[in-house]
Amino acid sequence: MNTNRYPKALETIQTPFYYYDTDLLRRTLACIKSYESSYEGFCVHYAIKANANPKLLKIIQEYGLGVDCVSGGEIQASIDAGFDPSKIVFAGVAKSDWEIELGLAHNILCFNVESIPELEVINQIATDKNKTANVCLRINPEVGAHTHTNIATGRAEDKFGISMEDMEKVIHLTQTLSNIHFMGLHFHIGSQILDMSDFEALCRRINDLQDQLEQQNVKIEIINVGGGLGVDYDSPESNDMADFESYFNTYHRLLRLRQGQSLHFELGRAVVAQCGSLITKTLYVKEGNQRKFVMVDAGMTDLIRPALYQAHHKIVNISSEAETTDTYDVVGPICESSDVFDTDVTLPTTRRGDLIAILSAGAYGEAMASRYNCRPFAKGYTSDDLC
Ligand SMILES: *Cc1c(COP(=O)(O)O)cnc(C)c1O
Repeated sequence: MNTNRYPKALETIQTPFYYYDTDLLRRTLACIKSYESSYEGFCVHYAIKANANPKLLKIIQEYGLGVDCVSGGEIQASIDAGFDPSKIVFAGVAKSDWEIELGLAHNILCFNVESIPELEVINQIATDKNKTANVCLRINPEVGAHTHTNIATGRAEDKFGISMEDMEKVIHLTQTLSNIHFMGLHFHIGSQILDMSDFEALCRRINDLQDQLEQQNVKIEIINVGGGLGVDYDSPESNDMADFESYFNTYHRLLRLRQGQSLHFELGRAVVAQCGSLITKTLYVKEGNQRKFVMVDAGMTDLIRPALYQAHHKIVNISSEAETTDTYDVVGPICESSDVFDTDVTLPTTRRGDLIAILSAGAYGEAMASRYNCRPFAKGYTSDDLC
């Protein structure tokens, strides 16, 4: 057992389960906070959709981050975890009436609005409740990760946000709506971005848009640049921290903030991915004619990223002391041929009962779990629980 990384107590817990290293989470949050406090106007929100485990939320809340929510359920989870509603922003392409009402009832910081019909409904509901809704408009900046894919997704992303051409028109519309207060602009260019040039392009685009709006005397209080900073899924053990330095420096260097403006970030993956592992037990080792399979008790119901996005996660055998290695396909027990964690993985010679850790599972793991095949949800334990 690699007891440097994993406490011995793990061996006694029913598998599969998520294991969260809270020291790493705290180091990550401290690093984020140090950049946030050294650059004036910077304000970091946690994109709660990455992982809403209450134990992690409590720690994230203690570090004073705001929250980015994309549903009413996430607003409620944030409130329950003790986040200050005045630090909650609410995005999402299609907000239900009850979700808008919940946001208004808690006086959240702002709604990130993605279309004119949505703006009108928020105004109507705010009027009925005798409230004013703060809004940022989500603008599609046509830079970054999304534009690297084909034209078909370029059209599909129209589902998200307002086009740059329509921006001024929609801002002027906000000024005619009695119970809407326009606060600024929101962007989000994609996820798992490691190439800073995508963020650089976003900064330049925002500078241009700000220049344009300044000529119209539009006042902008908040610029929200979304999330998307990637992590190292290939070598998470040697590189357990996202490149916050380059990320925040890029915005500091390139984005021209005006006096009194605040720059909001919405990081999900970069906050929680590396602190989480999915711990699973080897049930069988099956030798086919061509391939050997390590069949484990976790499946795509516990971590769907490999099946859904062909995502790669590092897999390690944490209990074997075997000196020999072998090459395996690591597969789950679900009745789906896509229930494969990875193929051609080199592991110490693996036996029934060996514990396997699937690394970098803190983001979009537990949060995307399902009960397909009537499987129970895997529980989440933290290093604080186990020592
Ligand atoms: C998903 C999402 C995020 C977080 O993305 P990460 O890649 O996990 O940092 C931030 N903002 C919005 C609007 C999102 O939809």
